[in-house]
Amino acid sequence: MCIRRLFRSSDLQQAWRAASLRCIQCWWRGAHRRTHSGGSAYRAVIFDMGGVLIPSPGRVAAAWEVQNCVPSGTILKALIKDGETGPWMRFMRGEVTTGDFLQEFGRICSEISKTSVPVDSFFSLLTSEQVTQQFPVMTEAISQIRAKGFQTAVLTNNFYVSSGKSFFPLDRSQFDVVVESCLEGVCKPDPRIYQLCLERLGLQPCESIFLDDLGPNLKAAASLGIRTIKVDDPEIAVKELESLLGFSLHWHIPNTCSVRRSMEIPKDALEKYLKDLLGTQTTGPMELLQFDHGQSNPTYYIRLANHQLVLRKKPPGTLLPSAHAIEREFRIMKALANVGVPVPRVLELCEDSRVIGTPFYVMEYCPGCIYKDPSLPGLEPSQRQAIYTAMNRVLCQLHSVDLQAAGLGDYGKQGDYLPRQVQTWTKQYRAAETSTIPAMERLIQWLPLHLPKQQRTTVVHGDFRLDNLLFHPEKAEVLAILDWELSTLGDPFADVAYSCLAHYLPSSLPLLKGVSDRDLTQLGIPTAEEYFRMYCVHMGTPPIKNWNFYMAFSFFRVAAILQGVYKRSLKGQASSANAEQSGKLAEFMSNLAWDLATKEGFRVFKEMPAAKPLTRSYHTWGGPWSLLSPKGTRSYSSVPHAPPAHASKGVLVFSVEGLSPWARDLYDRLQRFMEQHVFPLEPELQRHQASVDRWTPSLLIEDLKEKAKAEGLWNLFLPLETDPEKKYGVGLTNVEYAHLCEVMGMSLYAPEIFNCSAPDTGNMEVLVRYGTEEQKARWLTPLLEGKARSCFAMTEPQVASSDATNIEASIREEDAFYVINGHKWWISGVMDPRCQLCVFMGKTDPQAPRHQQQSMLLVPMDTPGIKVIRPLTVYGLDDAPGGHGEIQFENVCVPKENMILGPGRGFEIAQGRLGPGRIHHCMRLIGFSERALALMKARVKSRVAFGKPLVEQGTILANIAQSRVEIEQARLLVLKAAHLMDMAGNKAAALDIAMIKMVAPSMAYRVIDRAIQAFGAAGLSSDYPLAQFFAWARALRFADGPDEVHQVTVAKMELKQRT
Ligand SMILES: Cc1cc2nc3c(=O)[nH]c(=O)nc-3n(C[C@H](O)[C@H](O)[C@H](O)COP(=O)(O)OP(=O)(O)OC[C@H]3O[C@@H](n4cnc5c(N)ncnc54)[C@H](O)[C@@H]3O)c2cc1C
Repeated sequence: MCIRRLFRSSDLQQAWRAASLRCIQCWWRGAHRRTHSGGSAYRAVIFDMGGVLIPSPGRVAAAWEVQNCVPSGTILKALIKDGETGPWMRFMRGEVTTGDFLQEFGRICSEISKTSVPVDSFFSLLTSEQVTQQFPVMTEAISQIRAKGFQTAVLTNNFYVSSGKSFFPLDRSQFDVVVESCLEGVCKPDPRIYQLCLERLGLQPCESIFLDDLGPNLKAAASLGIRTIKVDDPEIAVKELESLLGFSLHWHIPNTCSVRRSMEIPKDALEKYLKDLLGTQTTGPMELLQFDHGQSNPTYYIRLANHQLVLRKKPPGTLLPSAHAIEREFRIMKALANVGVPVPRVLELCEDSRVIGTPFYVMEYCPGCIYKDPSLPGLEPSQRQAIYTAMNRVLCQLHSVDLQAAGLGDYGKQGDYLPRQVQTWTKQYRAAETSTIPAMERLIQWLPLHLPKQQRTTVVHGDFRLDNLLFHPEKAEVLAILDWELSTLGDPFADVAYSCLAHYLPSSLPLLKGVSDRDLTQLGIPTAEEYFRMYCVHMGTPPIKNWNFYMAFSFFRVAAILQGVYKRSLKGQASSANAEQSGKLAEFMSNLAWDLATKEGFRVFKEMPAAKPLTRSYHTWGGPWSLLSPKGTRSYSSVPHAPPAHASKGVLVFSVEGLSPWARDLYDRLQRFMEQHVFPLEPELQRHQASVDRWTPSLLIEDLKEKAKAEGLWNLFLPLETDPEKKYGVGLTNVEYAHLCEVMGMSLYAPEIFNCSAPDTGNMEVLVRYGTEEQKARWLTPLLEGKARSCFAMTEPQVASSDATNIEASIREEDAFYVINGHKWWISGVMDPRCQLCVFMGKTDPQAPRHQQQSMLLVPMDTPGIKVIRPLTVYGLDDAPGGHGEIQFENVCVPKENMILGPGRGFEIAQGRLGPGRIHHCMRLIGFSERALALMKARVKSRVAFGKPLVEQGTILANIAQSRVEIEQARLLVLKAAHLMDMAGNKAAALDIAMIKMVAPSMAYRVIDRAIQAFGAAGLSSDYPLAQFFAWARALRFADGPDEVHQVTVAKMELKQRT
């Protein structure tokens, strides 16, 4: 139904509004019209009236004589009797009154015909509306001539009618000059009257063309040097005029074609219906064209004599009950016209299918001007401002309609417009989906969770855009709002946002041109913000804060519509070029929508007070899920009963209870796996790590990896955000993964077992995000399969590497290679025999701006020139088999295609890589801490000192309490950062990631330290994981950047954002 409408619109939508034919008369052009004539030698066309623009008196007389049994030729003979001095010529020079003329004329006619001739009756007919209708072909021609900048004039031999006014039945506004013989006292062919006309036009004779049906009149004009055309048949004369002027003089009804065979309607029945409707005895054939993109409701242009109409009908065949509701269009336009909203004037709704086969309605074809290009080319800035203001005003007018007074109280449901719309367009999109569009998936999750509360219910147009407005050709006034197919009752801000689509789109966009890349101030066009403010001020409404939601929704809808167009075109219902375009555009629009959604998400976060109760949801909607929460029960999640997979995206799930059933199931399985397979094997794994074979990977780990893979507990780390099609991972959100990663963090060996360990995870994410297909095939695949491992080489011993711009290692371009030289250390994982890839960071251009000097290269570990100098230890622990190595790179040559993203983009990639890497460390640190606290609790319950169990000692209790509080605090911050990554992306979450990286290692360090203390000396031994946890927590105050660097980031942002 309406899904097609948008793209019948823009270039196609004209259908019934095809009024753009007179766009050419627009005011700005009008201003310049007199100065342009398209390079032609002619600058004006002068028309005779009778016989050229309207039927000639001679022809009227011939018909009248037959009807009144007057001998043929009587009137004509009487008209020419006595030439210049005869009664007709004197009448036309205004020398005699109508009464005197008729008396004398009657006498002459009777003498000629030898019978009494009722000349009064002839005169009435001659001046009647019936025979003074301007020939449509001439009306078109005049319109086209003027549009090209030519002047038009009428030079007529006319007379006074009985009212004392001159006889001039035409619309004077079509002409620059009107010269009437009865007013001037001079008649054609007197040369003076031609000269008078030329004088008033301000032209030389050779600059004009004169059309007349009488030879003497033409001869006189020609003798003055005026170019002449003899008019016997107006159609033929217009053709001749066209060839002199060099352009078409026929109206072009945009986007029309002859009626398609399958869409034919019975013409005779329609003509009869229209004649009855218009109450006119029209002459001439009815012209019927079809607007060529009216796929939904076929739409026709009709010209019947002087009437121009538009007919819109339901398509033939069986229809869905709610589809093609032309009755609604008719109803809304009629109701709005009654309360003064400018709309096309609807004439009648015909629900009787017997007339043309289906119900239809007829409306007037509105002449006016449609601005298809939102930048309004050719207009002055003040005119543009005026057009946008008029658009804004008319929207206010529409939204101010009193629904009851207009009889529209039941035109749609009151309230809940946006939830319904989101649902509808999601359904439409799903029905048209051809492949996954990641941004659409995100929006489908996000929109329902951020629905604003509808403040008012008004008529909403549903497709309110500049090119759906018909403007007055000469002033900034909206004559009609068109295209009511999507209208209903709803949230007026949806219309306001929709009317700003162009503000967010580039001017180069096909189909939907925008102005986002234009200088709006210079153009005189209000910005979206100014436009919105203008609306609020005029409506007396306070501005809303979630404008970006409305914009995101608007673009979501456009994307869904485009996807529909694309799907239909694939079925062969549109040209392939269009098909490809609309498919790409759908993705483009959805990305735009998602950008706006993230802005809105960010706003919500920024506005949150620092302290909130745990149950606080970050979304703005208290939707039906919250109703499911049994009253009085306390939940740590804002989604007590989560719906299917990924419903937790967009919601901050504080505890595992709030996870979606799918994520919860993964969580439970992971926990079971840990309990059944990992914790029991820890002592064995630890023994291996302390043995001489420690640099050889443990076979136990390899076995567990296969088991985990078989159970689907594999590559859990890749966020849905990065991998929306779940090509590489399982598709958890960052928040969901946070809960699972915490469980993995409880054992130092677990992350590798689930292929979720650093630095592989960061490297894999880099390859997914930035790698070429070849790079992915070569490196990502073995890493994802757990067959290979990798390292990340940035830190250098000779420079303070917490400032990555200090990095000195060089990457030099040489023919088809890059040559690397540098010294790195603390390179985790490099000692592992399975390590096949080093993601290397070095400088390609030390002269470039600070953050564009670095690049990242994929270096195969077996490349000659890589020398591992030694393994480093952390508190004496060497973390075998991966270890942390010091390495020398000496003239290491790698092919150019191993560059990631391109030279100078290393910093950019590092930012993208380190964000997720950092938060994963923090998630695991929460796991360390929980495990440490659990061990501590068990230990203090089992040991007695000074007469009572340790657990009863006050300091122990205080330490337990302190640890619980600190873990909870850190976890909340981790979850918040993860949520922000899900909702607004890694970049927007940078501050929160820095905060958590500052908080989590120290927190874990303190919690583990308390646990060690409570354990006594055993806590320091390798009998328990505490010592290793402690070493790691301490190391993580350096790894991925020392605390101070994150402190600086947080402080800088604090100062920037909150002062
Ligand atoms: C276990 C472990 C594993 C690691 N794994 C890797 C790896 O795989 N790949 C890799 O490339 N690197 C790795 N690193 C290195 C780590 O990233 C760096 O140690 C870290 O970035 C700090 O750099 P640096 O050691 O050169 O310290 P420096 O830059 O010399 O800094 C020294 C100290 O100066 C202080 N400082 C620095 N900046 C500021 C400031 N702005 N304000 C106040 N004080 C400041 C801090 O206290 C900092 O600790 C690892 C480190 C460890 C401990």
